[in-house]
Amino acid sequence: MSAVASSSKSSLKQIASLLLTLDGAKSALFYYVLLVQIIKAHRHLRARGTRMTMKELYTWVSRQIIHVFLKLPSMQKKVSEQMGQARLDIENKLVPKGPDVVRHLTLPNEGKSLEWLIKEMEIMDTEMPGSSIDAWKKGKLSGAVYHGGDELSSIIITAYSRYCVSNPLHPEVFPAVRKMEAEIVSMVLKMYCAPDSAAGTMTSGGTESIVMAVKTYRDWARAVKGITHPEMIIPSSAHAAFDKGAEYMGVKVHSIPVDSYTRRVDIKRVRRAINANTMLIVGSCINFPDGNQDDIQSLSVLAKKHNIGLHVDCCLGSFIVPFLDSTGLSKGDEKGRYKLEPFDFRLDGVTSISCDTHKYGFAPKGTSVIMYRTAELRRHQYYVNPTWSGGVYASPSLSGSRPGALIAGCWAVMQHIGSEGYKNSCAAIVKATRQIADAIHDDIPELYVLGNPPASVVAFGSKHPKVDALEVGDAMSKRGWHLNALNDPKSVHIACTKLTVPLVDQFIADLKDSVREAKLTPSGKGTMVAVYGLGSSSAVGPSMVGQLASAFIDALYKA
Ligand SMILES: *Cc1c(COP(=O)(O)O)cnc(C)c1O
Repeated sequence: MSAVASSSKSSLKQIASLLLTLDGAKSALFYYVLLVQIIKAHRHLRARGTRMTMKELYTWVSRQIIHVFLKLPSMQKKVSEQMGQARLDIENKLVPKGPDVVRHLTLPNEGKSLEWLIKEMEIMDTEMPGSSIDAWKKGKLSGAVYHGGDELSSIIITAYSRYCVSNPLHPEVFPAVRKMEAEIVSMVLKMYCAPDSAAGTMTSGGTESIVMAVKTYRDWARAVKGITHPEMIIPSSAHAAFDKGAEYMGVKVHSIPVDSYTRRVDIKRVRRAINANTMLIVGSCINFPDGNQDDIQSLSVLAKKHNIGLHVDCCLGSFIVPFLDSTGLSKGDEKGRYKLEPFDFRLDGVTSISCDTHKYGFAPKGTSVIMYRTAELRRHQYYVNPTWSGGVYASPSLSGSRPGALIAGCWAVMQHIGSEGYKNSCAAIVKATRQIADAIHDDIPELYVLGNPPASVVAFGSKHPKVDALEVGDAMSKRGWHLNALNDPKSVHIACTKLTVPLVDQFIADLKDSVREAKLTPSGKGTMVAVYGLGSSSAVGPSMVGQLASAFIDALYKA
C-alpha cells in the first residue's frame, strides 16, 4: 500500500514540477511574444510619430465602422447598384459597342491574310468614338509617348525585324543580343558615373527594375545581416512600384511624408525609422508625382552610416538628369529655382539606381536598366535552380524568355541618338518644363508649383479658395490635354516630352483659360474631380476607388 502511495506521491511531484516548468516556459514565451510586439510597436511609433500613428488609427477605425455600415442590407443594395452603374460607365468608355463591331472571340478556322490583318487593325483603331491611332501625335499628353519621331520609329522597326525571333535566354543562339544587352547596361552605368565594380541587368520596365531591387536587398539582408523580417523606408512620393515590390517580396514598408513646401522626404524622420531590420532606404530623382528630387546626399550619409542599401529611383529622370550638367541647366535659374543636386554613384552611399531607357531614352516600351554598385550585390537578384528536372536553370530577373527584339531596338536607339542627341533633347524638354513652371509662378496667381522641380515634370496645386486644381485639370481635358491628377495635395502634373515641346505656349494659354473656367463655372463633374476628390477626401473613398480600379482592370479584359 505504502509503496503505491509513495509512488503516486512521487509521480504527483513529477507532474507538479513538470507543470511548474511548463508554466515557466509558458510565461517565458508570453514575455517573449510581448517583448517582440513591444519592440515592433516602438519601431512603428518611432517611424511614424505619435500624430501619424493616431491618424492611422483613426482612419482604420473609421474604415471599420463604415465597412460594417456598408454591410447593412439596405446599404449593400445601394452600393451594389451604384457600383454596377460605375462598372457600366467604365465599360462603355473602353469597349466598343454596336451592331457593326465584330468580335474575334475564338481562333479563326483558317488563317487570315496580311491584307486582312491590316484592314482589321484600321477598323479597331477607329471603332471607339473619340479615339484614333494618331491622337497621341497631337502631343497634348503627359508622358506616355516620349519621342514619337518617324525616323526613330523606323530605326526601332529595323532593329526589331532583324531580331524579331531572338531570345536572350539562349545567348549561344543569339550572341548579338547578349552583346547588345551588356553594352546597354555598360552605357547607362557610365551615364550614372558608376565605379568599375558596378554592374546591372536589363528588365522589362521601371516596375520590374524596382521589384528586382527590393528582392535583391531582401536576399542581401538575409545573407549578410541575418535579417528575417526586412523593412524598407520610402518617401511618400516614391513610385507605387516600391509598395508593389514590398508586397510581392514580403517586406514591411515605412512611408515617410515629404515636406509640404520642398516636396523632399523628411530626413529626420527617415533617420528615426531606421532600425535593426532596415535593409533599404529610397530616394527619387525625379519623383513621379511632382518631379522633385529627394535630398540624395543626406540619404547617402544615412545609408553609409547604418550599412544599409540606398536605391535612387531615376526611372523617370532616366536620360534627363544625367545630361542636365552638360546643358548648363543643372545650376537652375537666376532666382535660384530648379537646381539639380547630386544623385548618382558619385555619392558613395548610393548602392543601386533604376533608369528607364523606355522613358527619356526614347527606346521601345519594355526596356529599363537596374544598376548596382557592386557585382556581388547584383548576385542577389539572380534566380538559380541547379536541381530543376528541366536542367540547370538560371535567370537574371523575373522573366524567363525575353524579347531580344526590344534589346536590339533599345541598343539601336541609344547608338543612333548618342550623348549629343540626348543632351539636346534634355535641354529642349527641360527648358519647356521651366517655361511652364515660370508661367505658373509669375503669371497665374491662383496656382502654385509644387516644390522646385529641376527636370521634366511640373505639378501645380491651387492656392485660391475658389479654384480646385482638379477642376482645372478637368477643364484642361476639355481642351484636349491628358494630364495626371495627384492625391495629397490635390494637384495636377505634366511630364513634358519631345511631343510637348512645341506646344508650350498653347499649354500656358489653355492653363490660364482653364483656371478662369474653374473659378467662374466649376462643373464638379469631371473625371479628376469625381475620382480623385472621392479617393482622398473620405474614409470610404479609398475602398470605393479601389473597387472601381479593379472594375477598370476587369473591363480591360472584356473582349
Ligand atoms: C514610370 C516610373 C516608374 C515605373 O516605371 P514603369 O516603366 O511604368 O514600370 C518608377 N518610378 C518613377 C519615378 C516613374 O516615373
